[in-house]
Amino acid sequence: MIYYHSALNKPLNSLGIDISLSDQRAEKLFNYLQHRCQISNFLTPSLDSLTHNDLELVHSKRYMRELLENPVESVQRCYEGYCSKLNQQDAVMVRDKVFLQAYGTYEAMKHAMQYGFVYYLGGGMHHAMRDGGRGFCLINDIAIAIRKLQHEKVVYNVWIIDVDAHKGDGSAEIFNEDPNVKTLSIHMQNGWPLDGREDSRSFISSSIDIPIASGEEGNYLKLLEKGVESLLDNHSKPDLVCVVDGMDGWQEDELESANQLNLSKQQLLERDQYIFTTFKQLEIPQLYVMAGGYGENSWQLYASFIEWSLKV
Ligand SMILES: [Zn+2]
Repeated sequence: MIYYHSALNKPLNSLGIDISLSDQRAEKLFNYLQHRCQISNFLTPSLDSLTHNDLELVHSKRYMRELLENPVESVQRCYEGYCSKLNQQDAVMVRDKVFLQAYGTYEAMKHAMQYGFVYYLGGGMHHAMRDGGRGFCLINDIAIAIRKLQHEKVVYNVWIIDVDAHKGDGSAEIFNEDPNVKTLSIHMQNGWPLDGREDSRSFISSSIDIPIASGEEGNYLKLLEKGVESLLDNHSKPDLVCVVDGMDGWQEDELESANQLNLSKQQLLERDQYIFTTFKQLEIPQLYVMAGGYGENSWQLYASFIEWSLKV
């Protein structure tokens, strides 16, 4: 099942954030898939939003206050050098768009529990930590969805399988001491956090970290399989797996800070096929969120996997 809503895809560059690399990929993907898949596979989310209580299941009161009262500062810090001219009104719109995105992740996760597999054409803001957003991630939608569904007693144990090129350091920090949520992150060894920035929280370990050095891409799949097997060997089966399905490890990805991992289209497809098949065989529900993937053509990588997944 594919989960999508056009209101989530207002381009950020119309809101004062100059990331030309971002992003109409969800819309392109949706338009493409619409002509190839059964329309019943698409689910349009309602557009409710998260409450402050939901957000505070993950984020600190201090950060929530800042985000609500002074979003310009929060948004500027999160999007780093990409939005120097941001005004209050644009910051509010960016913030509210992100809140909707995160609500979509929650709804999609709930549906994944019901249907077994949902691909959400959005979400994956894995760098946001308890006390602040960073790296284009204003809040951590994955963590909010998990905590909210734990609160509603829909899930207890969740695994996050994060295959974005950048380490899922926000999720690692948030769930560091949570015995019910295991985090696996396979990512480029160097380049994140951005060179020269000291932030020890970025180095908080995931349950399993698999750093891939530049030039070691040939071992990527083998190392991922070893990591997943280690989770399976050492922990009881989770209620749900959330796959943070970043495609920015692609060799043609256009984001400079992702260029230390260079996987081919075929490797990315095999990666996702392996994850999907493994957890499907174990009858563990799976939610996929898009995370990073930058440039004109990244949507095609998602399309390859989604088309395949709907046929098996
Ligand atoms: Zn990334």
